Amino acid sequence: MPHETRAWSAWNLITQTPTPSTTTTDASAPSSVCLTYNMNILQHIPTATFGDILVTLNPIHAPDPSTIQGRWIYHHPLYNAAMIRSQKLLPRIQNTRGVSYAGAWTKYGFHEDGITSGLEVGTKVLGGSVEWSEGVRDSTYARGRRPGLGWLDWVVRVLLGLIGFAIWVEEGFREVCLRDDPDVVMDVREGKGGQKKVQ
Ligand SMILES: Cc1cc2nc3c(=O)[nH]c(=O)nc-3n(C[C@H](O)[C@H](O)[C@H](O)COP(=O)(O)OP(=O)(O)OC[C@H]3O[C@@H](n4cnc5c(N)ncnc54)[C@H](O)[C@@H]3O)c2cc1C
Repeated sequence: MPHETRAWSAWNLITQTPTPSTTTTDASAPSSVCLTYNMNILQHIPTATFGDILVTLNPIHAPDPSTIQGRWIYHHPLYNAAMIRSQKLLPRIQNTRGVSYAGAWTKYGFHEDGITSGLEVGTKVLGGSVEWSEGVRDSTYARGRRPGLGWLDWVVRVLLGLIGFAIWVEEGFREVCLRDDPDVVMDVREGKGGQKKVQ
């Protein structure tokens, strides 16, 4: 944190600029970013009662071991194909058997996703209401727009589909040819793996 406490802000950043010899691209690009969140400001936690609560990501210096109170390992949610597939399946178990699911993980993982998913359950399932007139808006595309396929995407999709179809036909054709090949049938019976010798 800055020596001057008046300079403390919600987000406090230290960067280390690499020396020219250690970089191959942009010499001004920082090699590391150390960010300290001032939770007293961000969460309105009174310093007088709780002291300074600072959360540092990528600390430039490791904490003094004698001051460590505990160690916890956090994992960032992984947004991959399996996760997106699971998200689409969530409605199947949502609000069934007396269980409702809410949390930023049900959408894109941002603050607004956590809030709107909780509000959705609160208003639609638990019968609550919100004071603002437009009600609860889905946050999924609040930061952008719903992805759509353009003509180029369709061309690539059709090409990939044709290539996949050609591979499928070719593999089927080879299988039929090998099945009808007496040498291969003989090899398989003799436990030689059915590989055709090329002469
Ligand atoms: C360092 C950092 C920076 C971020 N920056 C941004 C940003 O700039 N913009 C943005 O949009 N998002 C940001 N995010 C993401 C965003 O903060 C989170 O996705 C969001 O807060 C998650 O909200 P949530 O309500 O789903 O879950 P959480 O806020 O994690 O709430 C889950 C709650 O459940 C409690 N809990 C867990 N297990 C149990 C249990 N068994 N019993 C009872 N309680 C339990 C936890 O203690 C916690 O209070 C950031 C996240 C981190 C970590």
